Amino acid sequence: ATFEDFKFNKQILSAVADAGYTTPTPIQQKAIPPILNGQDVMGIAQTGTGKTAAYVLPLLMKLKYAQGENPRALIVSPTRELAMQIEENIKTFAVNTDLRVIVLYGGLGPKTQIEQISKGIDIIVATPGRFLDIYLAGHIVTKTITTLVLDEADKMMDMGFMPQINRILEIVPVKRQNLLFSATMSEKVHSLAGNFLEFPTVIEV
Ligand code: AMP
Repeated sequence: ATFEDFKFNKQILSAVADAGYTTPTPIQQKAIPPILNGQDVMGIAQTGTGKTAAYVLPLLMKLKYAQGENPRALIVSPTRELAMQIEENIKTFAVNTDLRVIVLYGGLGPKTQIEQISKGIDIIVATPGRFLDIYLAGHIVTKTITTLVLDEADKMMDMGFMPQINRILEIVPVKRQNLLFSATMSEKVHSLAGNFLEFPTVIEV
C-alpha cells in the first residue's frame, strides 16, 4: 500500500512524501479510509504506531483551506508534550495549505494564544483545562467545530480529565465527526466512547 491509495489531494501527498513517509502504517491503513468517509473512529493504538498522521491527514483533507475566523477542528491531548507533537505533525502536513493551527496549554500566559485565536484559526490542539479556560473567558467560538479528536483518551481518564471532557462535549455542536485514540481499552475509555462516538468503526493494531 502507498499513500496514493487514499483519496488525498496533491498538497497532502507531496507533504507526506517530503516528510519521508512511503508506506502507511497499519493504523493508518485501517483508520484513514473510514475517517475520510466521515465516520466516527475509535483507534486502539500506542504512540509510535503512526496514530497522529492517521487522523491528521484525513482531517487536513476535510478542512482543505483556511475558512472564516473560527475553529473547525478541536484536538484534545492530555499533556502539553503530546499537544506540541500533534501541532508539529499538523504543520508538517499542512505546509502546502494556508490552514491555521494553534496549540493551547497551561504554563504560559494566555495573552499571545488569545491574540492568535482572534486573527482566525482552523485547528485548535489543546489540553482540556487550558482550552476551557480560554473558552470560558469568551475567546473561542465552538459552533463551527465539525471534528473533535480525543487523543490518548486513556491517559486523559487516568489524569482525571473526565469532567473537562464532558464539559467540552456540552459546548461543541451535536453534529460532528468524533475520533478517539487510546493506547488501551479501559472501563473508563469504554464508557467515554459510549457517550462520545456514534456507530464508530473500531480499529485495533
Ligand atoms: P506517532 O505514533 O503518531 O507518534 O508517530 C510515531 C513516529 O512515526 C513519528 O515520528 C512519525 O513521524 C513517524 N511516522 C508515522 N507514520 C509514518 C509512516 N507512514 N512512515 C514513516 N514514519 C511514520
